Amino acid sequence: MVRPHFLLITHPVQGHINPGLQFAKLLIRLGGCVTFVTSIAARRRMTESNALDGLSFSTFSDGYDDGFKPGDDVNHQRSEIRRCGSQVLTDLIVSGANEGDPFTALIYAMLLPWAAEVASGLHLPSAFLWIQPATVLDIYYYYFNSYADVIWNSSNDPSCSVKLPGLPLLAGRDMPSFLLASNSYTSALPSFQEQLEALEKESNPRILVNTFDALEPDALRAIEKFNLIGIGPLIPSAFLDGKDPSDTSFGGDLFQSSKDHYIKWLNSKPKSSVIYVSFGSLLVLAKQQMEEIARGLLDCGSPFLWVIRAKENKEEEKEEEKLSCREELEERGMIVTWCSQVEVLSHPSLGCFVTHCGWNSTLESLVSGVPVVAYPHWSDQGTNAKLIQDVWKTGVRVTANEVGIVESDEIKRCLELVIGGGEEGGEMRRNAKKWRDLAREATKEGGSSYENLKSFVDEIKEGCC
Ligand code: UDP
Repeated sequence: MVRPHFLLITHPVQGHINPGLQFAKLLIRLGGCVTFVTSIAARRRMTESNALDGLSFSTFSDGYDDGFKPGDDVNHQRSEIRRCGSQVLTDLIVSGANEGDPFTALIYAMLLPWAAEVASGLHLPSAFLWIQPATVLDIYYYYFNSYADVIWNSSNDPSCSVKLPGLPLLAGRDMPSFLLASNSYTSALPSFQEQLEALEKESNPRILVNTFDALEPDALRAIEKFNLIGIGPLIPSAFLDGKDPSDTSFGGDLFQSSKDHYIKWLNSKPKSSVIYVSFGSLLVLAKQQMEEIARGLLDCGSPFLWVIRAKENKEEEKEEEKLSCREELEERGMIVTWCSQVEVLSHPSLGCFVTHCGWNSTLESLVSGVPVVAYPHWSDQGTNAKLIQDVWKTGVRVTANEVGIVESDEIKRCLELVIGGGEEGGEMRRNAKKWRDLAREATKEGGSSYENLKSFVDEIKEGCC
């Protein structure tokens, strides 16, 4: 049988590329080959370790070939991704067919609804890859199908909770931020609407979701019209089978940098003692908030590894931007500008993860069995924090004061709850281990995600799509 050839495209940011590359790897393992389409800037930042038999890359310009920086025009980038992305997909599909190596299907991730139109215009089957929890997809669906008012009202009234079919009771702060009155990022919502409307027009829309059956059983089945298929967690396999966590090749860490110093430092710490602090690849916190986190960490007294990313525009940090207790922080913990997060999380000395609850970070904490202090900011992170605290019970969520700052005492309280010897922390740690085992189970041969993806690929191979 001919090897199926997949065309795969994600929005060109780390949080989308990482699961996209892991998905490519799974398709290759199941006998396919993949052409991964991404921006010139994203491709330049990837390491050579992303080389793999069966994987090739194709690039396009998103208008910011030297990298998208704070202050750049996000709407311009979006329209360039659409314009140049459509062109490159068209060229690839047409030339593949003309050269006798036609593509079998297109897989496209969120924020790119136009990609499916390109494929259908050229008679190529396509499937949507949703890289956030099924719960979040359901909430967007409900928003555009009768529940907009109740969801909107919940954001104005903190005492109001919303019961959506198949989902836990949600308060305003648990909703994706793009649906709330406070949302200032206006270009995302129309893209979700366009995506959902396009899927509703399909006869049996299948959506591949970066989750697994046991993690979100009801959310995966909540929308009758859609067939949501759990195929995750999309995490480097070394962290799922526990074989060799130092093998982060192929998408484990796109920005790979020397890790000897922090791994050595972690090696020197007692088991389950270290607090790891990271807010993902995009978020930049205000100086005042950073000071509060620093104080909370120092007051807690446990060793910590904190990722404070360098400025995107490579500018030097100004004197007034420097943390007042930087020296004390460096003495009592370690600060890095980037690390291989999956490798850090799977280190035996890890005891707690202070996270912004990006979906990749959330899944990585689950797969590593590390309990968390959930500190969500925007997009799906509030929903993820809700699931962490109240559904999976693997962490505690911080509460901000009336001006939106999470104070040092609150940070310390949450850290002590998770890492301390109390009953609540013990339960979170037990739950974290339970979800770690279930996540690993799901991705093994015979597990739900493995079998779900295999059926999808088999159908594609047989050409029944
Ligand atoms: N990440 C990493 N090293 C770091 C910080 C982040 O490898 O120092 C990775 C992390 O493992 C995750 C991704 O970057 O896979 C961040 O994705 P997530 O969805 O958590 O958040 P986003 O960056 O999209 O806000």
